Amino acid sequence: MLQSSNQYDIVIAGAGFVGTLTALCLNNCGFKVCLIEKGKHPRFAIGESSTPIADMILRSLSSKYNLPWLYDFSRYGSWQKSHPGIVCGIKRGFSYYKHYPGKTFSTDENHINELLVAASVSDELSDTNWLRSDFDAFLVTKTKEACIDYFEETEIITATRENKKWLLNIIHDYNTAVIQASFFIDATGSGILADKLFSVKSSADNFLTNSFALFSHFENLPRWMDILHKKNIATNDYPYDADNSALHHVLDEGWIWQLRFNNDRTSFGFALNGNNKELQQMQATALWDELRKKYPDINFILKDAKLSVQPGSIIRTARLQRKMHNSFGEGWVAMPHTIGFVDPLFSTGIAYSLSGIERIAEIFSANKNFQEPLYGPLKEYENIISEELKLIDLLVAGCYLTMQHFRLFNAWSMLYFIFTISYEQKRLKNLPVKYFLEAGNDDLKKITTLTYNELLMITQQETISQADVDRFTNTIRERIKPYNTAGLLEPSSNNMYHHTVAKL
Ligand SMILES: Cc1cc2nc3c(=O)[nH]c(=O)nc-3n(C[C@H](O)[C@H](O)[C@H](O)COP(=O)(O)OP(=O)(O)OC[C@H]3O[C@@H](n4cnc5c(N)ncnc54)[C@H](O)[C@@H]3O)c2cc1C
Repeated sequence: MLQSSNQYDIVIAGAGFVGTLTALCLNNCGFKVCLIEKGKHPRFAIGESSTPIADMILRSLSSKYNLPWLYDFSRYGSWQKSHPGIVCGIKRGFSYYKHYPGKTFSTDENHINELLVAASVSDELSDTNWLRSDFDAFLVTKTKEACIDYFEETEIITATRENKKWLLNIIHDYNTAVIQASFFIDATGSGILADKLFSVKSSADNFLTNSFALFSHFENLPRWMDILHKKNIATNDYPYDADNSALHHVLDEGWIWQLRFNNDRTSFGFALNGNNKELQQMQATALWDELRKKYPDINFILKDAKLSVQPGSIIRTARLQRKMHNSFGEGWVAMPHTIGFVDPLFSTGIAYSLSGIERIAEIFSANKNFQEPLYGPLKEYENIISEELKLIDLLVAGCYLTMQHFRLFNAWSMLYFIFTISYEQKRLKNLPVKYFLEAGNDDLKKITTLTYNELLMITQQETISQADVDRFTNTIRERIKPYNTAGLLEPSSNNMYHHTVAKL
């Protein structure tokens, strides 16, 4: 089964966009790389909404590792011009709509139940929702073009370390083979393989967030903007068409993502509060039906929904939060999404994963012979990833506390946008960025932890008054002042932010 060689510098397991891009970067650094995928492309994958940070990193990887074609994927316009056949969607920003049980969606002239945060100025320059089956499969073709050995429908059975080399026992179509590599990178997107090969466990210990998801892809869902217009809800001061964004519906029990691709397919899913035991115990279909029954407009969106061929069913996850107890060991390291995950809220996954590729490629290009000095940077990488997950967890956990109180949700979520803008600003100024999302910024973290503790107290009150909400909002407004280049929480904004991209 192994045609060219069975000796490699680096073997990467998992050919999602992380495994393939890591392989391409390391290949261009001069390593002999092999990529092993358990499944077969094109395969379904969830995790589609990209961000300006992800785009910046794509551009940086493109120039640093001589992958010129990658640049085009960093904006909707250039993606469409260069690769119209690879499906994606326009993502102009983050949009949130609060729904109340038993009631159809309504709002007022101050957009009291809406929040729209633009991330780009035009469709041409916009971020994208990636149809992962298309994009990931395309990246595999690029690894093949780069002459990286790629084995799909292949599993690693055992890994034995001898004389600073791995002997990996692999199986494909009932045939086994052994491949040798100096280093092993786990990009399989969960901790399962690391547990099997290295006995490294994952757990949800210490996460503040407790959520699970229920999702699929659908054909021809109605456009949310059409529904708003039918209700005579004014959208004339919207920064963009909300269907061309990461569209969220905020419920009491959690939230919905609705990500539209330009072939009329939509990724639609619920992320639900796992502390709600009743929901937790329901089967996928019963839960899906229950939420539709409770929220009339969600029911309307889904009433004629036809499942897309891939994945072809509604998928229900276990608790989403997980973190491996170690991120590396002798001769191996795991990529960010394999190490841990919090929740899809704020779409941090793709950018956080890409920032991991940047770091790993840098670490290996500076330590080409895999000697002892490699392990210092890998330890630092582990610490950084840990801090990043902690920050994302804190930001997301605060949102789950506030989902029944949209004004609190609105105020709290501004902290995420402040972290993002600060990070973007640094990257735009070419300043060194050690932590994704400024997770190493002690001042911002102090503010956030303090505010989270106050939020905990407010949300534990029996009733939350208008004055409590005003006070909380004012507190955040004051605390973010030194970083607030985008006018977040300015009363005149009416929850419509036209451009939050970092100003230089
Ligand atoms: C419900 C949900 C929604 C999300 N939404 C978003 C979002 O909107 N925006 C965002 O930025 N992020 C989102 N994420 C996160 C996003 O999914 C991840 O950041 C992204 O998928 C990471 O890519 P990856 O290549 O590391 O892993 P994956 O995409 O999981 O790819 C891993 C690959 O490894 C293969 N594999 C698995 N086991 C083995 C094995 N033993 N041997 C070989 N190959 C193996 C798999 O078949 C797969 O092809 C979401 C995550 C979840 C769970």
